[in-house]
Formats: sequence, structure tokens, C-alpha cells
Amino acid sequence: MKTCTSCCRRLPLARFQSAGNGKHKPTCLTCINDQRRLRSPLAPIRKDPVQVHINNAVHLWHGPVTRTALTPAV
Ligand SMILES: [Zn+2]
Repeated sequence: MKTCTSCCRRLPLARFQSAGNGKHKPTCLTCINDQRRLRSPLAPIRKDPVQVHINNAVHLWHGPVTRTALTPAV
């Protein structure tokens, strides 16, 4: 068992990446994966023509800024 320096959990040694010299890295694999995921940029969002049409229709109808609330028609 070993305590992760990042999340302070007591975890078995299998949850820690080996540093190569018989020791293990101080942070657990879950924390390493979290940091890796935070570093990697998000994939660009592809333009959806249907969504563009919906957005344009809504903004032409209500305007980008309006004082009246967008309440559903009763
Ligand atoms: Zn951790």
C-alpha cells in the first residue's frame, strides 16, 4: 500500500506507475490520467447545419438581446 501525493488515498502498489528504478511514482494512475486529460485540448466541434438554422431562426425571431422572457406560448 502507498499514499498518493495528489489525492491522498491509500492504494495498492499496482495503482501506481513504476518509475523504472524499482520505485513507484508518487501520484496514482487515476491522478496521472486526470492530469493528462486536462492537458489535452478538446476536439473541435463540427458545424451542424440544422443547429445553425435553429440558432439563426431563434435569433431572428427573438433577437440576440430581448427584454421579454422566452416563455412558451400558452
Ligand atoms: Zn491519486
